[in-house]
Amino acid sequence: MFNKVAIIGLGLIGGSIARMLKKKHQSVHITAYSRKPENLHNAIKEGIIDEVASNDAIDCNDVDLFIVATPVLTSITIIKSLLDDPRLKSTALVIDAGSVKQSIIDSIVDHKKAHQFVGCHPMAGSEKSGYTFSTHSILADAWVIITPHKKNNNADIAAIEKFWKLLECKIHITDAATHDRMVAGTSHLPHIVSSVLMESVFAFNKENNPSDMLPFIGKGFKDMTRLAGGSPDMWADIVLLNNSNIIAVLEDYIQSLTEVKHSIQQASLHNDRNVLYRYFEEVQNKWNKYHA
Ligand code: NAD
Repeated sequence: MFNKVAIIGLGLIGGSIARMLKKKHQSVHITAYSRKPENLHNAIKEGIIDEVASNDAIDCNDVDLFIVATPVLTSITIIKSLLDDPRLKSTALVIDAGSVKQSIIDSIVDHKKAHQFVGCHPMAGSEKSGYTFSTHSILADAWVIITPHKKNNNADIAAIEKFWKLLECKIHITDAATHDRMVAGTSHLPHIVSSVLMESVFAFNKENNPSDMLPFIGKGFKDMTRLAGGSPDMWADIVLLNNSNIIAVLEDYIQSLTEVKHSIQQASLHNDRNVLYRYFEEVQNKWNKYHA
């Protein structure tokens, strides 16, 4: 197991990994690298990390595993600088937590130390960001997608798989392109839909003062717009780097919206409730299948 671990970006995901890792492997030594190390003294007091230092002074000596948990565009720069560092041990591995995988892999696959980087995406998290909201429990029983590239070797993938399993995660291994296409639908589209819903409802009621809407906001609206509270820093990077998959899934989504609107118009024109019933029944059947 990795005994000396460095985490770059001790936010929601980096902090949650640190918490679970300390719980499962007490003797591990964790150094967190941050733009503002002074903000992370709490993490030392809580015993979650052992050391904190500035991002500008990353020390590769002796580190067995680097975990890069910053927004994806920043991760690309950091991963490359770690691989470039002559002090990186030849046995050390670098993993990330980014929500997009292909562009990260493309940025390093021709590097002479590319085999030392293994792409990972824990399917865990929330709309909250920052170390304060980190908790070990978001990782328990969560899927982690590992996306090996052509320079990786089986022993390193197995070591990373073992690492995530220690953190109580379930593993799914696939290529980066499949990962990016899947999450465009299951994660990135929901974030955009949640944001657009927020915008549309306020625009539709623009004659009213936003506070007039409060009595009309129930749990359903809160559930549907929860994701819109996510970090703009993180989401701008994700959408930019997975833009072609997101545009493709958005086109399907817009088509579905148009079809629903058409069904509603037809149902009212012909006073035909069955059209709507059949639509909602079909969707409910899918829902039951995926939530089983
Ligand atoms: P976060 O905002 O909680 O944490 C990001 C951390 O990176 C913070 O500590 C921040 O200070 C640091 N950081 C930001 N910009 C930096 C820079 N330029 N240089 C150095 N450090 C910088 O975000 P998070 O939710 O923990 O997300 C981290 C990564 O995990 C992202 O790549 C994201 O795509 C991925 N991810 C997020 C979720 C989620 O639901 N939040 C889930 C899975 C994966």
